[in-house]
Amino acid sequence: MKPELLFPRETIGRRVKELAEQISRDYEGRELLLVGVLNGAFIFMADLIRGMSIPCRVDFVRVASYGCGSQSSGEVRITKDLETPIAGRDVLIVEDIVDTGLTLSHLLNVLRERQPASVRVCTFLDKKERRRVPFTAEYVGFAIPDEFVVGYGLDFNEKFRFLPDVCMLKDIA
Ligand code: 5GP
Repeated sequence: MKPELLFPRETIGRRVKELAEQISRDYEGRELLLVGVLNGAFIFMADLIRGMSIPCRVDFVRVASYGCGSQSSGEVRITKDLETPIAGRDVLIVEDIVDTGLTLSHLLNVLRERQPASVRVCTFLDKKERRRVPFTAEYVGFAIPDEFVVGYGLDFNEKFRFLPDVCMLKDIA
C-alpha cells in the first residue's frame, strides 16, 4: 500500500496561507473562536492560525462516527466537547475533510443550539460527490475526487498522519 502524491507541501502551504488571509479579511475587527475537529485537523489548524492576522481563540472537539473501515454510518456523537462557552461568539469550525457531510451537519446542529453569533466551516479538503446530506463549507482548501487520502494530519488506522504532503491510498477497501 504505497501512498501516491496528490498535493505537495508547497501547494498546501500556499493554499492554507490564502485561506488564512481570506478568513482574516472576513473577520476583521471581530474575535474569532477556531474549533478544531480532532484528530485530523490539528496540522491544518496549526498552519491556518499562523497565517492569520486577527486574534483568535482555539478550542477542540472530537467526534466519533460509527461505521466500518473508511465508511461513515451516519450515527455521530461528540466524545470530547468544547471547554469554551460559544453563546454570542463568532465560531469557525476547522475540519480536515468533508466526505458524506454527516459529521459536520450533526456538529453544526449541536453548536447552533448554543446560540453563537455566527458559525461557519473551514475544511482543508472536500469530497463533494460523496455527500449523503446537503452540506456546503464556507471555506475549502481543495476539492478532491472520491479517493481515500492521507497525510497532513489525515490517517489510515493511525498511519501516515505525519506525511507533509497529501497522498492517495489506493486499494484500501
Ligand atoms: P463525513 O461525516 O463527512 O463522512 O466524514 C468526515 C470524516 O471522515 C473526516 O473527518 C475523516 O475522519 C473521515 N474521512 C473521510 N474521507 C477520508 C479520507 O479520504 N481520508 C481520511 N484519512 N479520512 C477520511
